[in-house]
Amino acid sequence: MNAQDTTPDNVPIIIVGAAGRMGSTIRGLVTAGEGFSLAGLVDRPEFRAGLETFGVPVADRLDALLPKVQGVVVDFTAPEVSLASARAVAATGHSLVVGTTGLSPEQREELAALAKRAPIFWSSNMSVGVNVLLKMLPALARTLGDAYDIEIVEIHHGRKKDSPSGTALTLGECLAGAREWNLPDVRCSGRNGIIGERPKLQIGVQAVRGGDVTGIHTVYFLGPGERIEVSHHAHSRENFAQGALRAARWMCGRAPGRLHSMQDCLEG
Ligand code: NAD
Repeated sequence: MNAQDTTPDNVPIIIVGAAGRMGSTIRGLVTAGEGFSLAGLVDRPEFRAGLETFGVPVADRLDALLPKVQGVVVDFTAPEVSLASARAVAATGHSLVVGTTGLSPEQREELAALAKRAPIFWSSNMSVGVNVLLKMLPALARTLGDAYDIEIVEIHHGRKKDSPSGTALTLGECLAGAREWNLPDVRCSGRNGIIGERPKLQIGVQAVRGGDVTGIHTVYFLGPGERIEVSHHAHSRENFAQGALRAARWMCGRAPGRLHSMQDCLEG
């Protein structure tokens, strides 16, 4: 079944990274709730036995599973794995929702190119709260003006592989755009030693790691005599998983064309 054949009343879900933190949270929501069903599970061979207890087809490669299974693919893994998923759906026409972060600019470009061949969605943060912030922050930045320096600080659990987080970079891109800057030209991720005065043309994006923090992102607007802090705290992975399933339902019936995002999904 491709996206056109999937009915929004019951969306079959194929999870890539099914044994991971996000994959297992999504699996739990799919099996516990209504409106979705588990259609297939993909993870590394060492997790195969555990995943086979769910009674759906299991594989260690998505391309081996797709010809036999219908549904929307949801992938929270690692950049190279998500790219392989995108290449696999480009060959079959299945819809794909990717939540993986840490993609290089070249990998983002390839994902966008593959989205011309199959319906593909990517978002560095699937929570409604962060996506609403992404809508509001440019207005705040523009209204406050250049007198307010922008710094972003994110905190995550110690097992997170990429730094700064994909969400912090998306927030940075959004705020740089509001100032008509290009984030790679103005980003500062680390200060050490005699660094001198902070340039005005700069956005700091800093990472803190440790413990079991699901995810905290704070944007600071530091101005003359005052500061504004806008903070988002994820209390659990469930809101990301709910967002991914909302995106999977929204992707049903979408045509290939351009890379879809959570912003598109929330706008309907
Ligand atoms: P995790 O390490 O717990 O899970 C990743 C899973 O991918 C593991 O089960 C691993 O075995 C599997 N995997 C790795 N290589 C594979 C391969 N070749 N084939 C099949 N499976 C493979 O990580 P996590 O915390 O679940 O996060 C996964 C990704 O999702 C990260 O990039 C993270 O930053 C991102 N993330 C995004 C959001 C969002 O809202 N977009 C939210 C949370 C996490």
